[in-house]
Amino acid sequence: MIANTQDKMNIYKVIDKARLYIKNEDSINLILKAYDVAYHQHLGQFRKSGDPYVIHALWVAYILCDLQVEPSVVAAGLLHDVIEDCEITAPELELQFGEEIVTLVESVTKLGKVKMTNDEDYLAENQRRLFIAMSKDVRVILIKLADRLHNMRTLKYMKPEKQIKISRETLDIYAPIAHRMGMSKIKAELEDRCLFYLDPDMYKEIAKRLADQQASRTETIDHMIADISKLLDEYRIVHRIFGRLKNIYSIYKKIKTKGKRFEEIYDLQAIRIICNQEMDCYGILGLIHNRYRPLPGRFKDYIAMPKPNLYQSLHTTIIGENENIFEVQIRTEEMDLIAEGGIAAHWQYKEGIDAKTNQREIEEKLHWFKDFISMTSEAQNQDHEAKDYMKNLMVEIFEANVYVLTPKGRVISLPSGGTAIDFAYKIHSKLAEKMNGVVINGKIAPLNRELATGDVVEIKTVNNAAGPNDDWLKFAKTSSARQRIKQFIKLKNQDLHKQDILRGKEILISEIERRQLKDKDVMTSKNIEMLLKNLSLSSIDDVYFAIANKGISAQNIIDRLVQDNTKNQTELKIRLSTEKKSISKNDVVIEGISGVPIELAACCSPIPGDEIVGIVLSGKGIKIHRTDCRNIINYEPKSKLIYVEWNYVVSNHKKYTAELQVFSYDRNFLLSDIVHVISSQRLSLMHIDSKVSNDGEILITKLRVQISNKEDLDVFISNLSKIPDVYEIIRVNK
Ligand code: MN
Repeated sequence: MIANTQDKMNIYKVIDKARLYIKNEDSINLILKAYDVAYHQHLGQFRKSGDPYVIHALWVAYILCDLQVEPSVVAAGLLHDVIEDCEITAPELELQFGEEIVTLVESVTKLGKVKMTNDEDYLAENQRRLFIAMSKDVRVILIKLADRLHNMRTLKYMKPEKQIKISRETLDIYAPIAHRMGMSKIKAELEDRCLFYLDPDMYKEIAKRLADQQASRTETIDHMIADISKLLDEYRIVHRIFGRLKNIYSIYKKIKTKGKRFEEIYDLQAIRIICNQEMDCYGILGLIHNRYRPLPGRFKDYIAMPKPNLYQSLHTTIIGENENIFEVQIRTEEMDLIAEGGIAAHWQYKEGIDAKTNQREIEEKLHWFKDFISMTSEAQNQDHEAKDYMKNLMVEIFEANVYVLTPKGRVISLPSGGTAIDFAYKIHSKLAEKMNGVVINGKIAPLNRELATGDVVEIKTVNNAAGPNDDWLKFAKTSSARQRIKQFIKLKNQDLHKQDILRGKEILISEIERRQLKDKDVMTSKNIEMLLKNLSLSSIDDVYFAIANKGISAQNIIDRLVQDNTKNQTELKIRLSTEKKSISKNDVVIEGISGVPIELAACCSPIPGDEIVGIVLSGKGIKIHRTDCRNIINYEPKSKLIYVEWNYVVSNHKKYTAELQVFSYDRNFLLSDIVHVISSQRLSLMHIDSKVSNDGEILITKLRVQISNKEDLDVFISNLSKIPDVYEIIRVNK
C-alpha cells in the first residue's frame, strides 16, 4: 500500500505540494481562501477516526495536488463536502468563489447522492455509466476519486458491514473508472484496499508471499538492475532503472480468474527503465534482448499501439541469471507520467494558459471515453472514422441516454426523451399496466414528463387501472414499451368485440320476444346455417356483431329467419341467385335496390369476404365500407346505413386493392423479405414504401397489393407476420 495515513495532514502540506506546480500567488490564495471556508464550515464536525472533518477535505486537496490539477479543482476539493454537510448554501458559496467552483462542488454533491446498491439487480456497468453521465466534467470525477481514495484509507474506522459494502462499490465502480482513465496508481491502491476488506485471508497470504519472495530475490534483482544499468551506461543512454512490485489485487485476479499458482506469475517483480526519448526505448530493448534470452510471446509494443487509456510502454519478459524470469518495462518519462496518472497527467495544470484553452485541450484528450464504451459495444464501430466515433460517443453517453433510478437505487437506462411509461415497461409490463401515476424526485409528475439522468422514479399503481391507451403511444420512446402498449390495446379491442357480440345477441333476443316468437323455433341450426350462407358470414357471432354495430338490423335478420322457415329453401336459393344476377354487375348486391351507382370506399378498401355495410348518399349512390371502418363506427345517422352483401358472382373474377402497414424493427433486407412473401404468394404489388420512425427503431412499411378476397389476405398477413422482426400488421383505414 502506498500512502501513509498516519501522517498528520494540514494546509501547509497541501500548499507545499501545490507550489511544486503552481507559481501564481492568486492561485495559492484561492486555495487558502477555500481552506478558510472549509475550516469554518466543518468546525465542530468530526470523522469516525476522531479527526476534525476538515482533515478529510485537506487530504482530498492533497491527492488532487499530487495529480497536479488546476487550482480551482483543488479549491473545489477542499469545499467538496460543505454544501452537503454544512450550513452554507450554493448561492452563498458562489458569491465567494464564482460559478465554476460551485458547479464543481454541486456536481460532486449530486454524485454522492446517487445510491449505489448491492441488489441482485445490481448492474455495475450501468452504475459506471450513470456515474460518468452525471459527472459531465472529468474534473468532477477526479474530485470524487480523490474523495473515495481517502475514504478507503480511513475505512478501518467504519463498521464491518459498511467496510464490505463500500469496498464492493469501490471495486465495482471507482476502480474501473480510475483504470479507464489510466490512473493506475490510484486504481491499484483502491483495489488493494478493497481486497483487504473483501478477502482478508487471500490478501494477507499474497502480501506475505510477495514479501518473502522479495526478501529472497532482492539480491538477484539488485544484481540484474546493476547489470542492465551498466550496459546502458556503456552505450551512453541516460536512464532511471528500478524494481517494482505488482499490486496485490492484480495477482489475486490472476490466481482467481486464470487459475494460476502464485509461482506461475512471472511479472511479480518487474524492472522498469525510464529514458528520455522514444527512440531510446527501442535501443534499450535491442540491447537487453541481445544480452538476455527473451521469453517467446511476451513482447508487447504499446508505444506503437497504445492501450485505449493511452498507456504507452514496451513490455518484454527475459530470462536472467540462474534462470530467473523478469518482466521489463521500458518507457519515456512522459509515458511513465501518463501510465501512473492517466488522464490526470494530460490534465495537468499549465500556468499561463487561460482556463478555456486548458479545458479545450483536455477535451481533445478525452480518448478514454472510447475505452469506456468499447467495453460494451466492441464490434460495431470498427470502420467508423475516429472523429465520428468520438462524436457519436459523446452523444451516446451524454445525450442519447438517460440513467434514472428506482427508489431502491437500481439504474434503468432509457433513450433520451424517455418517460415514466418507458421506465415502467423496463421494469415489468404488469407494473406498467397498473400504473396510474408517477412520482419523480418525490413530486407527482405527468406521465409524459421527459426523464433526466439522476431522477428517482417511483411508479404508482392501482389494481383497477384503466391501462395503456393511445396517448401512451405518444409518450413512449422505447420500442419495447410501444409494442406492449399496442398489444394491450389490441387485446382490449378484442374484448370490446366480444362485448359487441353479447350486445348484438341481446338485441336479437329482445326482438324475437317483441314479436312473441320462440327463441328455439327461430334460431334452429338449419335456419342459422341458411342465414349465414345468405349473408356470407361465417358464424352466428358475426351476425350478432353486425347487429350491435348497426351493420344490419335485428328486424331484418328475423324477417329472413322467419321467411326462410316458411318457404321452400331450394326455391329461395334460386330466387336469390337470379335476383343477384339480375340486379347488377356490381361488386355487391343490395336487396330491393338497383340502378344506383355503387362504389367501394377508398378509406377502408373493402375486399370480398370483409363484413361490409353501405351508406346511402343522397343523389350520389351508395358507398360500401367495411363494418369496422372508422368512418362507419363514427357515422351518424345510423339509419342511412344499409345492409349489403358481396356479389360473389362478380367478385370471384376480380382483384381488389388491399393496403397494409407493416411495423417492424429496422434492419437490413427487411423490404426484400416482404417482397419475397408477396411474390411467393403470386400477388401483384402496386406500391411499397417505408420510413423509419422518429426514434429510429421502427420501420413502417406501407404496401398496396391486388388480391382476390379476405381469405387470401389473411394468408398474406399471416405470412408477413412470420418475417423476423415484424411485430404488427394493420390494414390501412384512412
Ligand atoms: Mn468527502
